[in-house]
Amino acid sequence: MADKMHVTRATFDDVMVPNYNPAKMVPVKGEGSRVWDQDGREYVDFAGGIAVNCLGHCHPAMVNALTEQGNKLWHLSNVFTNEPALRLASKLTASTFADRVYFANSGAEANEAALKLARRWALEQHGEDKQQIIAFTKGFHGRTFFTVTVGGQPAYSDGFGPKPGAIEHIPYNDLAALEKLMSDKTCAVMMEPLQGEGGVIEADKAFLQGVRDLCDKHNVLLIFDEVQTGFGRTGSLYCYQQYGVVPDILATAKSLGGGFPIGAMLTTKAIAEHLKPGTHGSTYGGNPLACAVAEAVFDVVNSDDVLNGVKAREQLFKQHLQRINDKYQVFDEVRGKGLLLGAALNSDYEGRARDFLNAAAEEGVMVLVAGPNVVRFTPSLIIPEADIDAGMERFEKAVAKVVG
Ligand SMILES: *Cc1c(COP(=O)(O)O)cnc(C)c1O
Repeated sequence: MADKMHVTRATFDDVMVPNYNPAKMVPVKGEGSRVWDQDGREYVDFAGGIAVNCLGHCHPAMVNALTEQGNKLWHLSNVFTNEPALRLASKLTASTFADRVYFANSGAEANEAALKLARRWALEQHGEDKQQIIAFTKGFHGRTFFTVTVGGQPAYSDGFGPKPGAIEHIPYNDLAALEKLMSDKTCAVMMEPLQGEGGVIEADKAFLQGVRDLCDKHNVLLIFDEVQTGFGRTGSLYCYQQYGVVPDILATAKSLGGGFPIGAMLTTKAIAEHLKPGTHGSTYGGNPLACAVAEAVFDVVNSDDVLNGVKAREQLFKQHLQRINDKYQVFDEVRGKGLLLGAALNSDYEGRARDFLNAAAEEGVMVLVAGPNVVRFTPSLIIPEADIDAGMERFEKAVAKVVG
């Protein structure tokens, strides 16, 4: 085999589109909740690839599924179906409200399918006047033009020319605003049951139930974007199951593949009927390789052991953050569910979440931000207690550094 070319972080600036600004170090290897960079420096991973690596790095069940399927069949397109896709869809429908599954390659694509399905359903079921899509400020649904426009951060959707229309935003947890805006002309409400990117903001239970009731009243489809909250992240297979508020359409991705790209849209049989042959599709969606990996992830995650373990780890994280805060007074609150946690900075540290992230990386622990004021933690759902302790020791040093 020919020697591989030597590349460094500097290569990025020479060959990559500058839409990202990655860290200085280049990771080369991961195992469980530890990662190593080109210089052999080791990190504890509390970021999990932005809430994706739900079983850590290179979990044996995933590596086995990948190599086994990789030696069998990778891709044939949707001209044919395949066994891993059919098995995964069977497991997803057996464990959720849904009867039908559409496979995509990412969260944005799963949401794009959900939005197109909702519009098609409304057109066929109720006519041309039922088009309005209501979503929430600070919501995040992906970066295709439709999904980013439905997302509630204009900074992400401005500057690309004319946007898809009939999309309106109201504040999260504001049921009165929804009641005022919604009518029989509303087609769908799209929301995260817990806002991730927007700052780890929990929905009130009464709000979620109220949204469902209003949707029922006006014959509106409720779409839950569980791309980040789903697949065990919040301590149940899907977050909606903890609230007892059932959507009509659900989008799932991130943890679904545990690091292999896959997304899915779940819905009922009656609604699914509106995506007839030829109405929507994807070359790679539902390919055997991705589905085989996701099936392996499903088999591990969907167990009492792992899901209860998420809740136990949530308590550990919260205890550590509380202890650190008692000492340094940097957070207003620690919020979120399961292993989707946000430490909101108090007014003394307003806008400085990235400083904490950078200091953490210097101390050897990967964390995330969710907006300028929240440090976010989305580790592996099975991160060992020893790694939590070690990572928090490093995070405490980072906090001490920022406090100065
Ligand atoms: C990450 C995310 C998306 C987008 O997923 P991609 O795989 O990046 O397209 C959509 N919705 C939510 C809630 C997310 O957290």
